Amino acid sequence: MPSLGENWRKGQQLLAEAGIESARLDARLLLEFVAACSHADLLMAPERSLDIAAQEAFDHCLLRRASGEPLAYVMGEAAFRGRLFQVSPSVLIPRPETEILIDLALERMHRLPAPRVIDLGTGSGIIAISLALECPSATVLAADLSSAAISVARNNAGRLGAAVEFRQGDWLAPVAGERFDVIVSNPPYVADGDPHLALNGLPFEPQMALTDGADGLACIRRIVADAPVCLKPGGWLLFEHGYDQGEASRNLLAAAGFKDAITFPDLAGIDRVSGAHL
Ligand code: GLN
Repeated sequence: MPSLGENWRKGQQLLAEAGIESARLDARLLLEFVAACSHADLLMAPERSLDIAAQEAFDHCLLRRASGEPLAYVMGEAAFRGRLFQVSPSVLIPRPETEILIDLALERMHRLPAPRVIDLGTGSGIIAISLALECPSATVLAADLSSAAISVARNNAGRLGAAVEFRQGDWLAPVAGERFDVIVSNPPYVADGDPHLALNGLPFEPQMALTDGADGLACIRRIVADAPVCLKPGGWLLFEHGYDQGEASRNLLAAAGFKDAITFPDLAGIDRVSGAHL
């Protein structure tokens, strides 16, 4: 049986030949995953061998990664905001830029004694679960059209001990007649046919979570138009969008009667979240 060290080299080579830029790192992470060991274990005992099941799992994972499948789907998990979330191909892989949306929502939630909040299009649940865990006085709901996504999110909430109530349905339809202090969303905002959809593992992700099948603003238009009747006076709508959608988002918010529409950059300085209040 090849040792851990030999497997790392072999894996790195296979992934590099497949054109994976992060070949060395990905081979190591997959090896640690199948061997249930840490980076330190790998460095201290590279001569250790894998058992047969782990060896088969490693070879299988390498082939999936070599085909371009994102590491998060191969491992079935991804880290976000210091927590580990389970992911499947029915949900988007967490992106670090979504953290800004969470910080902005928390800032507004913490001004209220017991805020009611909803995350629209929750996917794996990262937004709703982070908000519930970081603002325990809040009541947090999460909705998604996809029942497969809801089952991933519900499982994540259970594993992480977050009290989130899930609703299945189209944007705000499943909470018609209810009111919230904060509505947040990371909707699909990539335009149909955007070349970006063919790159970086995006073809493996659910297209319904990435693109609206139109100009990229269709879901944002719908959310902005429907949000006012579901917000309490002074309530905030905050949503993620593409680098060039800030101005259009602010215009939509103003046209729907929102006040003080503002766009916030992500850590890379790119327009990423817009929001406004009633
Ligand atoms: N930011 C993601 C990407 O460009 C898209 C996420 C989304 O559409 N909500 O890959």
